Order: sequence, then C-alpha cells, then structure tokens
Amino acid sequence: MERFDLNTCKRVKEWLKNDVKRIVIIPHVNPDGDAIGSALGLNDVLKNAGFEASVIVPNDFPVYLNWLGSKDIPLIYEQNAERCNKLIDQADALFFLDFNDVKRLGKLEEYLLNNTTKVVLIDHHPDPQIKADFMFSDTNVSSTAELVYDFIDAIDILDHLGVTGANALLTGIIADTGSFSHNASRSPMYSIVGELIKRGADKEKINESLYNNFSEKRMRLLGYCLSEKMEIFPQYRTALIWLSAEELKRFDFHPGDTEGFVNYPLSVKGVVFSAFFMEKHDQVKISFRSKGSFATNDFSGVHFNGGGHRNASGGETKLSMEEALKLFRELLPQYADKLEQDR
Ligand code: 5GP
Ligand code: MN
Repeated sequence: MERFDLNTCKRVKEWLKNDVKRIVIIPHVNPDGDAIGSALGLNDVLKNAGFEASVIVPNDFPVYLNWLGSKDIPLIYEQNAERCNKLIDQADALFFLDFNDVKRLGKLEEYLLNNTTKVVLIDHHPDPQIKADFMFSDTNVSSTAELVYDFIDAIDILDHLGVTGANALLTGIIADTGSFSHNASRSPMYSIVGELIKRGADKEKINESLYNNFSEKRMRLLGYCLSEKMEIFPQYRTALIWLSAEELKRFDFHPGDTEGFVNYPLSVKGVVFSAFFMEKHDQVKISFRSKGSFATNDFSGVHFNGGGHRNASGGETKLSMEEALKLFRELLPQYADKLEQDR
C-alpha cells in the first residue's frame, strides 16, 4: 500500500486496536454521493471489524441515497442533535470525511468547537485547513470513497468490507466522477472498482439510483432551467443559471433535485465556466464547474466564501439573489484572461 505514509498507517492501526471502541463518522454538510458513500462504506467495514461505529450527517441528504443506509444510518444532526451530541461525547475517535474546512460541518461546527477527541481526516480536497491527529489527504484521487478503500486496506481491515460497504464506496466513486467521465483517468481507481464489484457492489443499481431515479417535477425543473433560465456570456465563455425560492417551491423541490444542473451548460460549445445560484433558507447557495484550467475554487473562495476542487466547487453568500447575481456578472470582466487561457 503506497498511497499513505506507512508509519502513520501503523500508528493509526495500533491506536484503533488498543484505544478505540466507539467511532463517529462525519461527512460534510449538504452531503452528496461521495460524502454519504464514503461515510457508510467506512461505517460498514468498521462495524464488521468489531467497532461501535455511527454516521452523523450535518443535515438532510438526497432520497436517492437512502438505500445505502438503513434506519438511523446515517443520523441527521439537524433532526437529532441530542442523540448525536451524546454519541460524539462518548466517541473515542472521530472520522471527518470529504471536507477540508470545519465550516463544512454546518450546525455541527459549533458543537465540535472545543472537541478534544482525536480526529482522523480522510479527504481529497486541496489545502486542508482541519487540525487532524491523523491525516489521509490526497487530491490525486477520484473521490473520498477511493481513499477510504485505500485506508481500510492500509490498516488491514479490508477483509471486513461487505456488500453494503462495497455499494456505498462504489456510489462515492461513481458520483464524484459522473460515472467515470471526469477525474477518472488513473488506473488504480479501476482496480478498486474491480475489487468493489468482486465484493458484490451493483454498478447498474448504483447508476440507476444516481441518474435514473428522479421525480417528474425534477425533470421539468431541469427543462425549465435549460430553456428559460440559462444565460450565456459568450465573451467570457461562461454560463449562469439561477433559481429563486419561489421557483423551487413551484417545482416541489427536494434536496438533491438540482444536483448536476450546473454541469449541463458545459456541454455548450465554448462554455468553460458554469455557475448555478439557488436561494436556500436565508442565503444563496452556489455551485461552480469548469473545464480545463479555470480555477473555480479560487473564484469561489475569494468572492463567495467557498472552496472545493479546481473544476468543481461551491460557495454561499448572505447577499440577496439580486445582489449576488449582480456581483457575479460584474466579476466576469476581471476574469476574462483566465477564462480565455485554454483557447
Ligand atoms: P456542489 O456544487 O456539488 O454542491 O459542490 C461541489 C464541490 O464544491 C464539493 O465537493 C465541495 O468540495 C465544494 N463545495 C460546495 N459548497 C461549498 C462551500 O460552501 N464551501 C466550500 N469550502 N466548499 C464547497
Ligand atoms: Mn468528494
């Protein structure tokens, strides 16, 4: 196992064996397929290996990921804070998955502010800002799920990975690569995919649940976005879609319904940068995607309190939708050169 420092792996293994019984696994707020998949995959293998593991997600997650878990797995912090706090208090180890900044803990951030329990971070985002006791961070992988696989291999508990865990990890990989279409050019990932399938992961079912499992309203919302709401700025090779709270209500929005919308404008010839703004509670949540060298995570970090990967990032702002869109439109000329780079 070459990915991680062997000495760190040895120390984690000894610590888990000697000092750890109860483990709480926490992925990022607004959890997506990789957050849920990597957390539930790790949960499965740890439980099978004899640990008392639980998964706490900061807030609700898309229904199409439900089948990966079961009753109370994962627990949702916003709906069960008391029970979650107790589990965290009793834990000997916390695993943070698929995020690089405590801001991504949502409402859990406050509760964990004075945390003294040892933290293991497993993540594939650049420039981790989290103080972890053990860090397994690598930006050269498809997903956190891929890293979780390598981690459990490195600490010699891979034999405990069951069908539940294999399905969860493969979901993470498929979700973060858009079914092997991006960030999926390195061969070790395919060896892992092969191993997961060998262990019973059902690729067809995962694809069906991720991509062919939407409500009629969601499909119409996508159509509405593309036909009525997509704005293209050819001179900046940029596209923008935005949705108000009223529009979301009109289409009976559920978490996960707008997942992937931001990718569509990138299939328009010439577009290299796509932004999707939507009203969420008292703020505007934004997703950014790009093709090529344009660093959306820098853009998002500087202007929209966000971050992520170069080609896929997100942010949020307390500005009104109108102000946020105005800011976005006014910023584009500043980035004209960067948006031209790959031409
Ligand atoms: P999505 O657009 O699918 O919500 O997020 C894409 C990626 O951007 C995520 O995997 C995550 O890395 C990052 N991201 C999304 N929202 C935020 C945010 O509010 N803050 C930070 N730091 N990263 C975000
Ligand atoms: Mn991820």
